[in-house]
Amino acid sequence: MLFLHSFSAMANLGIDSVRFGVHSDKTRMVIDLSEPSEFRSFMLPAIDDKPYRIVIDLPNFNINTANIVKPKTGDVLEVRSGNLTPEISRLVVDLKNPSYILNAFQLPSGAGKPDRLVIDFKTTSINNFKETHKKVFGNLNEKNIPKTLTAVPKATDSVKTIKPQIKPSKNVATTKTPLYKPLIVIDAGHGGKDSGAVGANKTYEKHITLAAAKELKKTLEATGKYRVSLTRSSDKFIKLRNRVNYGRSKEGDLFVSLHADSINNPKVRGASIYTLSNKASDAQTARLAARENRVDLIAGVDLSHEDKEVSDILIDLAMRDTMNQSKFFANIVVKNMKERGITMLNRPHRYAGFAVLKAPDIPSVLIEMGFMSNRNEVRMLSSDNYRRKIALSVTESVDAYFTKVRKNENQ
Ligand SMILES: [Zn+2]
Repeated sequence: MLFLHSFSAMANLGIDSVRFGVHSDKTRMVIDLSEPSEFRSFMLPAIDDKPYRIVIDLPNFNINTANIVKPKTGDVLEVRSGNLTPEISRLVVDLKNPSYILNAFQLPSGAGKPDRLVIDFKTTSINNFKETHKKVFGNLNEKNIPKTLTAVPKATDSVKTIKPQIKPSKNVATTKTPLYKPLIVIDAGHGGKDSGAVGANKTYEKHITLAAAKELKKTLEATGKYRVSLTRSSDKFIKLRNRVNYGRSKEGDLFVSLHADSINNPKVRGASIYTLSNKASDAQTARLAARENRVDLIAGVDLSHEDKEVSDILIDLAMRDTMNQSKFFANIVVKNMKERGITMLNRPHRYAGFAVLKAPDIPSVLIEMGFMSNRNEVRMLSSDNYRRKIALSVTESVDAYFTKVRKNENQ
């Protein structure tokens, strides 16, 4: 049947080569085409054993698979192709990490170069992936494909046929793609000239939060499922705003700030988890937020100005989504801490306007691990054992959270 090709003036589109350029700000994929063509391109999430994928649909094409040049570094695992429908062929790029398409466009032939389809993409966080992956680039519309093209039989010997609707059989051994490792940003409260609360045993909050942050890093990394970044790993001062900026610049998937509370009443004890709200849930919480936020004033920074900027972002609906995810995570932490026998305040999940929780795109919680002002509790917070207990309950919560996130993504 292959000879029919030669009789048809409407020969299949040809893909002569596929190559990638890895740049610091993006990866550029260039597809050499035999002629200008309609296309559509979009992302698919990781499902079951399938990784994150870039999809490029074009009218039926013949591809020279020998000229697919994968980059040696970067994110590209595999480039595959096949028929989606009798009219449409599909090129799939398997990726190690969630990514988003920055732009997809065609360059006309000229200066010895053929028509080219260019796809620029960039790795991103799971959260940003969720927001961006539904965007479709290009204008390929199945109804617009000339019927003459569909009549042309295709040589499919050299390409794998992709059947996107059919899940691989459980019995078939499939090559396991490494799952994306979410980045957890751990923020040890205070530091340097800002000691935080001073404990009944004269311990500084800044030392306890740093020790707890390091312990949490250890337990999270031990799972092999997460990357971890600390906003500080030594006794140094960092502005609240810069802690948030750090998390965002790293494209963190979750932000956990660790603190230990203090209050005039030495009997009060128990851990609590805070998520962002425009309104503090009560007066005590408002005072706590004011105290934790005050460090920026110590550094001579006018927080009210930065708040304006942040409050503008707050209007964004994306923020509401992030706040919901933060709340969801906070509730899991409460449950797991209770189960591990950690004393909690009554109504342990609270809301406050902590500056450090204001990343609009990273679910963020602040954990007050206990009271420095309570003699018993500060002694426990000063012990490795107790901090390990806290770290384990947070790690379990991170696991539960991302299991849920992945499930949602695949729906
Ligand atoms: Zn604190």
